Order: sequence, then structure tokens, then C-alpha cells
Amino acid sequence: MTADPILLTPGPLTTSLRTKQSMLHDWGSWDGDFNAITARVRESLLRIIHGEGTHECVPLQGSGTFSVEAAIGTLVPRSGHVLVPLNGAYCQRIARICQVLGRRLTTIAYAEDQPVRASDIEAQLKQDPSITHVALVHCETSTGILNPLTEIAAVVARHGRGLIVDAMSSFAALQIDARTTPFDALIAASGKCLEGVPGIGFVLVRRSVLERCEGVSHSLAMDLFDQWTYMTRTTQWRYTPPTHVVAALDAALAQYFEEGGLEARGARYAANCSQLLEGLRGLGLRSFLPAAIQAPIIVTVHAPQDPRYEFKRFYQAVKERGFILYPGKLTTVETFRVGCMGQLGAAGVPGAVTAIGAGLESLGIKVPRPQRLSA
Ligand SMILES: *Cc1c(COP(=O)(O)O)cnc(C)c1O
Repeated sequence: MTADPILLTPGPLTTSLRTKQSMLHDWGSWDGDFNAITARVRESLLRIIHGEGTHECVPLQGSGTFSVEAAIGTLVPRSGHVLVPLNGAYCQRIARICQVLGRRLTTIAYAEDQPVRASDIEAQLKQDPSITHVALVHCETSTGILNPLTEIAAVVARHGRGLIVDAMSSFAALQIDARTTPFDALIAASGKCLEGVPGIGFVLVRRSVLERCEGVSHSLAMDLFDQWTYMTRTTQWRYTPPTHVVAALDAALAQYFEEGGLEARGARYAANCSQLLEGLRGLGLRSFLPAAIQAPIIVTVHAPQDPRYEFKRFYQAVKERGFILYPGKLTTVETFRVGCMGQLGAAGVPGAVTAIGAGLESLGIKVPRPQRLSA
């Protein structure tokens, strides 16, 4: 078997051998051993945000979007009104969810290289008392931009509204402390910074909020209140759990804490990100975001201004060299994306930079010689 290429993508991403090996068993969904794994995973996830005692972890089968939709559907009453600041594709997705679920929606539009401003949220909340919730994407994975969660959470709390945070690509790598950052719900998934395999999302909900959510959801399978009460009562998942995904997340969490938890994970991604930015600069490539608003999660890169550039051929050339890139998601400019997450190993980022350079050269695009760092 040849080695898998390294995934430079924001999930699914390259997992460790130990995580993969943890899936070589079959579990019964009613079995005590499996339910102990579920309980341990839920506890660990709460611990990461210091939400023990105040919040509940409600896992849900499916990709991350399923949990975002479940959170909106369970927490926002049908008469609710959601404010969604928009600076990328994942915020757009939340807006779309509100429309599909028939929840009243107001948006604030930003350019994709502009972070959401807390002062704009505050102005909107002051002006419109009918807004019940703000739904914010913390790290907008479509560009890699970081939105100021702490400031926005303070504003939303001051105005007595609920905050729902899509922290899919930041949870467990960037600091989020439920003791000091007030939110009603925060959503993430198994296959992102925790470096598990994809297949479950989870919502960390303030218990006092969740307790009031009985019968709000429009959906049976996506009702987090029902999932929570069933799990609390039986220790089991309501409906068939993705047993192997849960076991892999348990193994990934054990490795996360062994590595040093959030600090260590965040530091590793930050090192990957700065090494990547430096390497790309050396190839004459420009990153889309200024450093101040770049989260160390995924980097959006301007495609070279060269008529020979074509993403599909470039992607294939880099893949042949052992790395999987991520296409750009911007409508206005041609870009590609490179993830900083996953088990890349020490050789991962330098190897990726070399592969990107060689990939461009194989299309006939001139790339500057790698520069020696001055001593
Ligand atoms: C990955 C991600 C999601 C969920 O995407 P899925 O494809 O459903 O897993 C949602 N929001 C953000 C910010 C993400 O990075």
C-alpha cells in the first residue's frame, strides 16, 4: 500500500495511526463499554471550554452543518429573529439555514477580508429589539479570517440576547473560555482541530438555555433537546450512533490531552501557519489576508497571475507529490487554500511548500528560487 497523501484541508484531515487503529473494533450501541466512551468524550469536550457544571455537550450524528442546523432549530424559537453577520461562505450557510427553517433573519454584510465588528452588532441590537439571537462564525474557514468572538459575546450578553457560535474550525485550537465568554451554544465537530475522523458534530449549550428548549425544534432527528434528555436518561445515543467515529474521537481526545491540550494544539498550528506563510512568500505567492486577522487554521493564497495557471492541473501536480490542497471559495478573486491542521509531521509544511513550488513549475510557471534565510 502506498502512503496516503497528506491532507492540507480543514477536515477531513490527516489523522494519526493511533486514531485510525482505534476504529478496528465493532461496538454495540447499547453496550456499557461503548456508552462509557460516549460519556468520556462528552466530558472531555466540555472541559476544553471550561464548561463543566454550566454547559451540556450534545453530540449529533452527521457532519458539522447538521449540528449547526440542529442548534438553530432547537434554540431559536419559531418566533425568534436571528442576526447573522456575513463575511464568508459559512456565515452564508447559517443565513440559509435560518431561511430554510423559517426563522426571521437579518444580516450585516462585510467584505470577505473584513472581520465582523462588535460595534456594528451593538448598533443593530440597539436598533432592533426583536432580534433574539446572534449567530457568529468564529473562524471563517472560507478565507481563514478570525472574527472577534470575545468582544461580540460581551456585546450580545450586555443586550440580553442569545449567541450561537459556529466554532467548527477554531474549537480546541484557539482559546474559548465559557467562564468568561458568554454564549448560549457553541458548535464544533469531530474531524477538525481535534483531529478525529468526520461523522459527528456537537453542540456545547448553556444548561439553563437548553432546559427551556423542549418542543422548539421543527425536526425529530435534529432535536438537540430530545437527544440530550434521551442521552441523559439512558446513557445511549438516540438512533444508531456512528460507533467507530465516536471511538476515534475518544482516541483523538486522549492524544490531544497528552500533547498538552489547547495550548499545544494552538501552538503547533500557529507554527505550521507561519512556516507556511514564509514558504509561500518565498515562492512569490501572496496570502489573501493580512497577518493580524489570519487565524492559524487555513491560509487563502492568491493564485499566480499567470495565464498558464489552472487550479485542477496545479492540484493534480501537487497531489502527485503527496499533498492534497483545497480549492478557493471566493467568488471575486482566484485563490487556493492550504490547511495548517492535522497530523502533518515535522516534514509536512516544508514538504508542502516544495510540492507547491514544483507543482507550479510543472505548469510552466516561473517560481523564484527558494531563498536562504539570513543567519
Ligand atoms: C467545516 C465547517 C463547517 C461544517 O461543514 P461540514 O461540511 O458540514 O462538516 C461549518 N462551519 C465552519 C466554519 C467550518 O469550518
